[in-house]
Amino acid sequence: MSDPALLDDLRHVLGPDGVRTDPAALALAASDLWTTGSLPRAVVRPSSAAAVAATVRIARAHGCRVIPRGGGLSYTGGYVPPDDRIISVDLAGLNRILRIAPEDLTITVESGATWRDIDLALRPHRLRVPFFGTFSGAAATVGGGVSHGALFFGSARYGAAADQVLGLQVALADGSLLQTGCEAVHAAPRALLRGYGPDLTGLFLHDGGAFGIKTAVSFRLMEVPAVQGFAAFAFADLAAASAALSAIARAGIAEEVYVLDPATTGATDLPAGAALRTARALWQATPGFAGRLALLRDVARGGQRPVPVGAWALHLAAAGSSPGAVAADLARARQLATRLGGREVAATIARVARADRFTSLDGVLDAGGERWAAINTKTSHSAAPALLAGFEALLERRSAALATHGVTVTRLASALGQQAFSFEVVFHWRDTWLPLHVATLSPARRATLQEPAANPGGRSLVAELREETMALFRAQGAVSNQLGRSYPFLETLAPETAALLQDLKLMLDPDGVMNPGVLGLGHTADR
Ligand SMILES: Cc1cc2nc3c(=O)[nH]c(=O)nc-3n(C[C@H](O)[C@H](O)[C@H](O)COP(=O)(O)OP(=O)(O)OC[C@H]3O[C@@H](n4cnc5c(N)ncnc54)[C@H](O)[C@@H]3O)c2cc1C
Repeated sequence: MSDPALLDDLRHVLGPDGVRTDPAALALAASDLWTTGSLPRAVVRPSSAAAVAATVRIARAHGCRVIPRGGGLSYTGGYVPPDDRIISVDLAGLNRILRIAPEDLTITVESGATWRDIDLALRPHRLRVPFFGTFSGAAATVGGGVSHGALFFGSARYGAAADQVLGLQVALADGSLLQTGCEAVHAAPRALLRGYGPDLTGLFLHDGGAFGIKTAVSFRLMEVPAVQGFAAFAFADLAAASAALSAIARAGIAEEVYVLDPATTGATDLPAGAALRTARALWQATPGFAGRLALLRDVARGGQRPVPVGAWALHLAAAGSSPGAVAADLARARQLATRLGGREVAATIARVARADRFTSLDGVLDAGGERWAAINTKTSHSAAPALLAGFEALLERRSAALATHGVTVTRLASALGQQAFSFEVVFHWRDTWLPLHVATLSPARRATLQEPAANPGGRSLVAELREETMALFRAQGAVSNQLGRSYPFLETLAPETAALLQDLKLMLDPDGVMNPGVLGLGHTADR
C-alpha cells in the first residue's frame, strides 16, 4: 500500500536514494533464505545512527513498525515482515569503522559493518576480534551477528559474536539513542567493561531486534596469534566424531573445531580442483617456512579428496604464541581423537576455511543449485549423544518421505566455548530460488546454474521436518540462539522469566514498533 505522507517524511530525512519502494527492493526485503512474508511499505537505507532514530520516529508517527535487516543472510524469518505496515531498515549504509584503539585493544564499528570489513581494517594492526566471523562474513553484519547468535571462527575458544561485545549504541522505539557499557559514562566515554552495574548490553544481545536497532557495536580485541596449526581426523560415525569434538572442546585446545558430514566433504574437491585464488590465499595465509612445509605435506597427503569417502571428519584450527605451544595443543588433540577411533587425515579443509574466509557467498545454494535450510541447536556435551541419536531416529521414521521428495540431509557439529555442543542439521532439496538467492550469487556462479522447477512437495516436507526437528530439540531441552520467528522461545522459559521479558518489551516498546513478533515478543496485529 503506498503512503505518500510517510514516504515524503522518510525522503526528507534519508534523501531520495535512501528510500526505495520499487518491486525488486520490496521483494528482496520480504524474504530470507527460507521464508517469504508480506511486502514492506518501504526499504530505507539510513547512513547515520541519527537517521535510524529518525526513521523509527517517522514510522511510529505513521502507525508503521520497523524491522532491522543486516546482511539478510539468516533463515529464521527474523527480518521477514509479518504484515504490510513494515519499514524494512537496511543497515548496509551504516558500515563505518568508527574507532580502532590498538593500545586499549578495542574497536567500535557501525552495526552494518561486515565481519570482512572488520577483518580488513584490523589486518594492518595484527589484531582481531577473538571470535572473528561467520562463513557468511563477506556480507553478514556485526549487528545481525550479535542480535542473532553468530558463531564460527574462533568460537571453540572465545564463544559467540555476542561474547565479544563491550558496549552498544541502540536506537530505541521512542526514537532515542541509548549507549550501554562504559561508553555511557559521561566523564570519559570509552569501551572498557561490559559489566559496569547491571549488564544493559546483555539485554540487547540475541534479541533479534525486538528491543531496538543496534547502530554501533564495541568489541574487545586480541593480538593475532603468531602461530596457527591445523589437524583433521576421520571417524567411522557421527557418534565417535562428536565424542572427539566434545573432548577437544573441553580441553580448550582449539580455536574452532567442527565435524562435517561425509556428504558435505564428499562434495568438496580441494585443493587441486579448487580455484587458483584458493591456493594463493592458502599460501599467503601460511607464514614461515615450517608452516608452508606443513601446508605442502597436507596437500600432498590429501590430494583432491582430503577426507576419505564415507568418513565423518573432525577439523580443527589451533593457535598460540609459539610453535611449541601450538604443537602441544595439536599433540593433545591427536591423542584425544585417536583414543576415540580417529585416524589422522590431511587438514586441508580447516586451512582453506581460514585462508579463504569472507570471499564468496555462493554457498547460499548447493553445488547443483539446490536449496538448503538449516536448523541448529545447542546442548551440553553430556546431552549431545542422546540428541544425535534422537535426530537419526527421526530421519529413520521419515526415510520414505525423504526418498519420495528427493530431500537429503547433512549435519554439522561444532564447539561453542568449552561448555556448548552446537548441532546443525541441513535439509537440501531442488526447488525454485528466492530473491535473496539470486541477489547473492556471484554472476560467474549464476551463469553455471539453471534454476530448478518448483517443488512444493519437497518444500512442505522440509517445513514439516524443520518443525519436527525443533520439537525434538525442545523436548530434549536443547536451545537455539538464532531464534527469529522460527524457534519456540517464550514457551520454553520458566513463567517468571518469560513474564519479565514481556514486561521489558512493553516498557521499551509500548506500541510494538520494533520488529513485532520476533522471539514471540510484542506482535500486536491490531495496531
Ligand atoms: C553461506 C552461509 C554461511 C553461513 N555461515 C554461518 C556461520 O558460520 N555461523 C553462523 O552463526 N551463521 C551462519 N550463517 C547464517 C547467518 O549468515 C548468520 O546468522 C549471520 O550472523 C546473520 O547476519 P546478518 O547480518 O545477515 O543478519 P540478518 O539476517 O540481516 O538478521 C538476523 C536477525 O538480526 C536482526 N538484526 C539485524 N541487524 C540488526 C541490528 N543492527 N540491530 C538489531 N537487530 C538486527 C534481524 O532483524 C534478524 O532478526 C550462514 C548463512 C549462509 C547463507
